[in-house]
Order: sequence, then C-alpha cells, then structure tokens
Amino acid sequence: MCAEKVLFTETELNNLMNRYHFSAEMMDIVKNENLLPLSLLSRLQTTYPQYSLMKNPNKIDFNEKDRWVGLKGFREIVDKLAKHGVIIDKIPEREVFIHVYRFMVTAHVLNLIDWNNYQNDPLFYLTFPQPDMVREHARQKILAAKTDEEREAIVKDYIKETNPHDGKQKLNKPIYINENGELELLDGLQHKYSSVVLILDEQTQNCFGFCTYCFRHAQVRGDEDMFAQKSIEQVIGYLKRHKEITDILITGGDAGYITPARYREYIIPIIEDPELSHIRTVRLGTRVLSYYPEKILSHKYDEMLNLFKMLYDNGVQPMIVSHFSTPREIMNITTIAAIRRLKSYGVNLKSQSPIMNHISMYEDENGNIDVDRSAQNWIDLANIFAMLGVGFHAMYIPRPTGEVEYFTRPLSDINKVFNKIYKSLASVNRPTRYITMTLSAGKISLLGDTKIDNDRVFALKINEGRDMNWCDNVFFAEYDEQTSNIANLKPYKADKFFYEDELEEIENNLEKNILEAQKHHKISERK
Ligand code: SF4
Repeated sequence: MCAEKVLFTETELNNLMNRYHFSAEMMDIVKNENLLPLSLLSRLQTTYPQYSLMKNPNKIDFNEKDRWVGLKGFREIVDKLAKHGVIIDKIPEREVFIHVYRFMVTAHVLNLIDWNNYQNDPLFYLTFPQPDMVREHARQKILAAKTDEEREAIVKDYIKETNPHDGKQKLNKPIYINENGELELLDGLQHKYSSVVLILDEQTQNCFGFCTYCFRHAQVRGDEDMFAQKSIEQVIGYLKRHKEITDILITGGDAGYITPARYREYIIPIIEDPELSHIRTVRLGTRVLSYYPEKILSHKYDEMLNLFKMLYDNGVQPMIVSHFSTPREIMNITTIAAIRRLKSYGVNLKSQSPIMNHISMYEDENGNIDVDRSAQNWIDLANIFAMLGVGFHAMYIPRPTGEVEYFTRPLSDINKVFNKIYKSLASVNRPTRYITMTLSAGKISLLGDTKIDNDRVFALKINEGRDMNWCDNVFFAEYDEQTSNIANLKPYKADKFFYEDELEEIENNLEKNILEAQKHHKISERK
C-alpha cells in the first residue's frame, strides 16, 4: 500500500516554529540558510508519521524555562502534567532513581514526549526515571530509610555497586615523559586504541539532559575520581609524541559544552603546527542534537561553526558524533534544522548508541523480545539518517554499569534483532561495524552464532583492542542463551580466550606505570 503524500505549507511551518517558541533570530537563520525545506518535511512526514508530532503537536506546552533539574524539577513536571490530566504513578519509587543518579530534562524533550501515550514513548524512558529502574534490594532499602542522612548513607554504599568505571577505564590514562624529563599522567585522557585519544575536557563535565542509562555516571555525578583534562598544552605535547594518533575525540559529559575559545586552543595547533599533521579528525561526542538543538540555531553559535569550517578547509575532518536511539529524537523541526546547519559548515555527522531495552529494544506483552518492533526502530532510524546525510556509525551492547539490568537483554536476543536490522538495510546505510561491546580488552563484535560439529557457538571479533594485532582473529565462545555480557561467555574448547595472557600483562604494566607516575607526584597541574 502506498503512503499518502503529506504536504507541509509555509503557514504550517510558521505555526510549528511559533509552537516551539522559535525566536525571531532562529526563524531568520532557518529562512536565510534554507534549513527546513517544505519538500524535506513533507517527505519525512509522509514516510515516518508514526514518529512525528509535527502535524499534531502536544497540547501541554513546557515553556517556563529551558530545563528542569533534580527532584524539584521532577516534581514540578509531575504537578504540571497532573493539572493537564496526565497522572504519573509511583512517584517515591521513581524518585529513588534521582537519589542515586541525576535528573535533568529540557523543554525541547518535554515538548516532544507524546503525553497522550507516554507509556510507549521511548523518550520518556530515555529521560524519566521508572519505578523499577534501581535494583530491587537497593530500592527497598532507600524507600525504607527514615531520615535523609540514612538514605544518603545507603545511596553512597549502593553507588559502589553500580560499577562507574567499567572496562578498567582508569588504566587508559596515558603517561609520558615531558620536556623536563618528568613523568606526567594525563588525568583527563584515555588512550586505549592506537589511533584515537579521548579527551574528557574540564569544560565538558555536564550534559544537556541526563540519559537514564548513562554509562558515564561518574562524570555526570561529579565523583571524586572522575576524569577531567585541564591542560591543553599537555594534550598537544602528548599528540606530538604519538604519531599513531589520527583522531581526537572530545567527550564528557557532553562535548557540546566546549566554548569556542577552548575549542580554538585545541584546533589551531592542529591546523598550524606541522608536527601535528598526523591528525585527521576532531570529533565531538554530544547529545546536543537530541536535548538542546536550539543552541545550534543562534548567532552565538556562529563562532563554533566557523571553527568547524576552518578545520574542514584545512583538511581536518570536523565531526559530531550524536547518540540517537530512536527516530522520535530526530523527527522535529529543531533537530532537523540543527543537523542541516552543521552540515552546511562542513561538519561530518555520525551517530552511535547502545541498544537499550524500553528505549530502542522492546518486549512483547509476555516479556519476550519483540524482534520485529525492535529492529524496525533501528531500520527506520538508519533510513532517516540517510535522508538527512547522517552516518550510522555504531550500535553497542550496553556496558555493565549503572542500572544495566533494566536496560539490557540477553546477547541471544540482541543478536536476533541486529541480524534483522543488518539484512534489512542497504549496505551504505548500515552501521559501520557489527554490534559491539566494550570490555577491558577492547571493542568486541558479536558476529553471530553458528555450529561447529554439533556445538552451537558465538563467533566474535575484536574491532579495537588494547593490542590492535588482536583484531586479526575471529574466535569462538560457547553459545549462551541467557547472558547479556560478552565478558561472561566461556571460550569454546579452550581454557581462556587467545588474548587473555597478553591482556593481563598489559593491564599489569599499565597499573604499574600509573602507580609509578603517581608516586613521583608528577601529575601535571599546569593550567
Ligand atoms: S549524554 Fe552521555 S554522559 Fe550525558 S547523561 Fe547521557 S550517557 Fe551520560
């Protein structure tokens, strides 16, 4: 059956911009830069009406402020919804989550949640605490606490169980001998895979909204042992000594928080210093396009756009990596306009995100995986990316951190969903690699399941490893119907996986070097 063609008119677009409180400046930018062609909106709406409120915006309008934060913000939203007849249940249970993690949601997202059907809206699960998110034993204790102090003590203990630095991330901090012969530990960097270095910059330790599944909750919560890079000079010194690095990835928190002045400090040496001519790409990992896209539609953002253009004109790829999980995050005029604005300044846009139960993977009424509905979410997302020129970089298996048990499903289910996604997409629109999970050893892809003799096995491959030579091997693990973590798989007909001895040696050396650097108190505090 053919979809009925839906047309957008100029008047409808103007009404929509008014509904979403576009300022006169935003409207001018949209018009002058042709960011919302009616033909594009019509095609998106015709093909994917099920994800869009563009023809039928919410009646409830969140416009009092930009964002709602913490318990107070949560309660304000609940009260406002109640006044409009939308009753959110189990408030104390939901608030348990906020005691352990954090809550922040923007007006942009609140205006996109379909409040007529919020129990089925992935955006609601992405940003709002659910009653059963925090593990049962901790939830009951927190609910039973008699005083604030008692509750805080329980929460403090429980946080240790939430594995904030999974995958031994603290071993990824690089060390080098500086120009004075001193050992320096780079406190906000992670250099695990040879070609890319992660920078957790001191300016990017916040987010535009908080994802309930956050896998960097140590950063977001501001734990004492969070990563935070102060000195850019130190980063530049490190990059000059490591010619194998081609990509820098500024992350957080959210790299969308970096100011143009600080971003300039990173990129000018990369553009001008021949000793840094091995750098090909400067990535920013951000959820700004999902949570606060209006930031990009202002003249204040022009300075940043001009820096992206400068990189592009100098043969260095400016890249923004988003984390879209569902078409519901894209099918709105603000995000579409922001994507098109970034692209017009030479930014290469990509998206990667984990496959998360309730958000981008769904169960049927019996609690079994709904393969068709789950796969369709990603197939449609990939095709919408294609329509907007966004690259589909990667899909991840959730890492064992935070409330992962709420968000994940067995690998066997994820494998079924991923297979359906992969074969349903044209090759150019597929994720650039097979579904992957990050472990201390590296990013391991689940290639699928097969049989050796009569034994069912999973086939695995390392995509990026602490030793990149490990990427050459396909290896096997016993098939396991239940586990959701590749780290729990047992090697097939072997005592250990082929890389385990070397991994142990590498980890021991890293640990020794980091302790050494700390012992000599040469941790740089240069500004
Ligand atoms: S954007 Fe990233 S760091 Fe921020 S809350 Fe979401 S997952 Fe966590």
